[in-house]
Amino acid sequence: GLQPERAEHWTRSVCSYCGVGCELELGTADEQVVGVRPVLDAPVNKGHLCVKGRYGQGFAQSSRRVLTPMLRREDGWQACCWDEALDEVARRLLALQAAHGADSLGVLGSARATNEDNYLTAKFARHVLGTHNVDCCARVCHAPSAAALKTLLGTGAATSSYDDIERTRLFLVAGANPNENHPVVGARIRQQLRRGAAQAIVIDPRRTELAELATVHLALRPGTNLPLLLAMAQVVLAEGLHDRDFIARRVDELEAFAVSVREWTPERAAAICGVEAEAIRQAARLYANTRPALCFHGLGMTEQGQGTEGVMALINLALLCGQIGQPGAGLNPLRGQNNVQGSAHMGCEPGSLAGGIAIEAGRARTEQVWGRALPQRPGLNLMQMLDAAEAGRVRGLLVLGYDLALSLPDSQRSWQALKRLDLLVVQDLYLNETAARFADVFLPACSTLEKDGTFMNAERRVQRVRAALRPRGQSLPDWQILGALAARMGRGEGMQFESAEAIWDEVRQVWPDGAGLSYARLDRGGLQWPCRDEDDPGTRVLHAERFGHGVRTSLRPLDYRPSPEVCDADYPWLLSTGRNLYQFNAATMSGASALQALRPTDTLDLCAADAERLGLREGQRVRVRSRRGSAELPLRIDARLQPGQLFATFHDPAVLLNRLTSSERDRWVHAPEYKVCAVQLERVPD
Ligand code: SF4
Repeated sequence: GLQPERAEHWTRSVCSYCGVGCELELGTADEQVVGVRPVLDAPVNKGHLCVKGRYGQGFAQSSRRVLTPMLRREDGWQACCWDEALDEVARRLLALQAAHGADSLGVLGSARATNEDNYLTAKFARHVLGTHNVDCCARVCHAPSAAALKTLLGTGAATSSYDDIERTRLFLVAGANPNENHPVVGARIRQQLRRGAAQAIVIDPRRTELAELATVHLALRPGTNLPLLLAMAQVVLAEGLHDRDFIARRVDELEAFAVSVREWTPERAAAICGVEAEAIRQAARLYANTRPALCFHGLGMTEQGQGTEGVMALINLALLCGQIGQPGAGLNPLRGQNNVQGSAHMGCEPGSLAGGIAIEAGRARTEQVWGRALPQRPGLNLMQMLDAAEAGRVRGLLVLGYDLALSLPDSQRSWQALKRLDLLVVQDLYLNETAARFADVFLPACSTLEKDGTFMNAERRVQRVRAALRPRGQSLPDWQILGALAARMGRGEGMQFESAEAIWDEVRQVWPDGAGLSYARLDRGGLQWPCRDEDDPGTRVLHAERFGHGVRTSLRPLDYRPSPEVCDADYPWLLSTGRNLYQFNAATMSGASALQALRPTDTLDLCAADAERLGLREGQRVRVRSRRGSAELPLRIDARLQPGQLFATFHDPAVLLNRLTSSERDRWVHAPEYKVCAVQLERVPD
């Protein structure tokens, strides 16, 4: 347990769980975290922390930490020194590169690491290995949001700030359960609803706590976001509720768009989505008529076969109704991990460089700063790298802080790809499932409690992360490991830095919209980009006068394609997967903290009526089988679910829920369809 009275020193830093980015103070004594308290005047959390922030910080001192480099030998893992580990990795990377070319290698950055770590990860791929094969876990969560926002609005990030929560009159919460996944944002929304300061429309199959407080709850069938949003747009146009003035000034292609949604009557969508047509009308009217209205969306929107198009449909609605570019209005992807926004934004994305700048647009500036030409061949994203690994074309992978084996969909297929690699190097705090099962080399990284740097939260705010503890054992910050590895490969030039700040200063040279974000300023408090020079106060609301690519943008006509993952007599239930309040993704960190005791295993959730019909009771073990595999886990009765629907978390390696999930992917960015999985259900005999 925590003993804050023992703290000898308090260090201000940022919570390393979700993308809300709460600031906290870590009380330390004898190189242990003994206390955690919120920063009272923090702009994000204003003195609050959720259970993960308060009780989940023990991961750094967990006995599960691996504190030396390790090589896998024939008889198992063998601890070694840094020299031996780095020599082995360097030798094998160079050999693969010589034999099969630079594009036979790939690198994955980490949403749990700092911006500086991720910038150097992307630089390692492009500058040292010579490939654009670099990506991060944004691929499996909000890559659809970034693509949709970038394509339609010119900037792939939230358009508003958390402070708009207190300025808005209406929340449109789509496919998100912030009470569990972004709890401090959820609490701020809930407070506004309870005070009667705002209303809410909630689009979610489950009757979440926010749905209970909403004016309209659209409990749609998983996988049917697009017809619902197309029908809302149809109602707005059919009833003349669109913002003519905003459209005249900023929006093109109204007529073509109107034609594209004409057939999407609420009745047609209602039959597909399983909601009342009148509720769709009510939601459309409320959104169009209540000003300002603020949209938050989550993975219920993006982890779909049409995830990118779903987010585009939300953007279309905001453009139609003029709900963007002003305080209290806008679109906000609730980013899952603490630095997933930063990881992709620092260039851990095959198509873009630091600052989210497309390679061709940023090539000249980056080549000038790096002093070396960037590769010409396009890179592969995470899912494409796995496909290429399965086909024997990608042969070596360096993975930082990302448990692929547990979190990728359709484990059987993903594991085939990981098994085929000639070299898998994992850089992490623990021997996670990926390392334990598949890695050849393990490199011990230090945790974010042990290093300096910055994180970027979901509202584009860059905040300082400060070391509260010394690195444990032989662990090193990721950026130092990458610098040392580059040197071993004879390509250390441009990869050696004295400090995280020195890396950040290089980031500011290649990213004009971040040039004003100096450590000197960030040390006084986080700032939101764009922030172009030292006098720029940062930007709270994007697109007030112009979009990222110009004053005007176009509405995007969209077609609905039903998911191929359908229920039938053999697989009659629809399962969605997601997180819960007490654990975090692969539970690498939360499972190594006091949180583990609060929710030690995954559960399969269903409503009481279904449980009764099947003769099942709470806690009973059930076997869930999809067309790809099966998993066993205890049953939990959850009143938020509708009859016929199932929900399960995916944190526990003993359950390995992703054996069930589907290989179906979003067509724009290849994000997997975690939210739609047809299954059968049976009781496991006692
Ligand atoms: Fe950490 Fe997110 Fe909880 Fe804030 S809301 S304390 S950032 S997990």
